[in-house]
Amino acid sequence: MSVDANCIFCKIVAGQIPSRKVFEDEDLFAFHDIAPWAPVHFLIIPKLHIPSMAHVGPEHASLLGKIMTLAPKLALEQGCNPYPQGGFRIVTNTGAEGGQEVHHLHVHVMGGPRPWLRG
Ligand code: 5GP
Ligand code: ZN
Repeated sequence: MSVDANCIFCKIVAGQIPSRKVFEDEDLFAFHDIAPWAPVHFLIIPKLHIPSMAHVGPEHASLLGKIMTLAPKLALEQGCNPYPQGGFRIVTNTGAEGGQEVHHLHVHVMGGPRPWLRG
């Protein structure tokens, strides 16, 4: 299924729920987390509704590659300090025991000066 009508992140991609957009192209959407843990905290998601990292297969390799190569570029643009003194954290929670709350695959990108609220 490419879109889940009950999914809040599908609704954000569709503009049905407002968000502070960081980036968009034909495959990906990135937006600021509503409850940031760090001075910089945004999410990168595929527009395709993939519920979690437990659902990915070889057909998603290029999509996941796009997300992971976009993350460092957006991190710097959004105010993360340069490596190695700066840097950022990339997190993808998966499943209940992995701490996942929204079941549309997303990569958290967090950074900025310490201390952080969490993480
Ligand atoms: P998870 O726990 O699933 O890895 O992370 C879900 C993240 O989505 C949380 O950090 C939460 O703050 C964020 N979030 C949940 N609902 C919304 C929303 O409606 N808008 C935005 N911008 N972020 C959201
Ligand atoms: Zn979705």
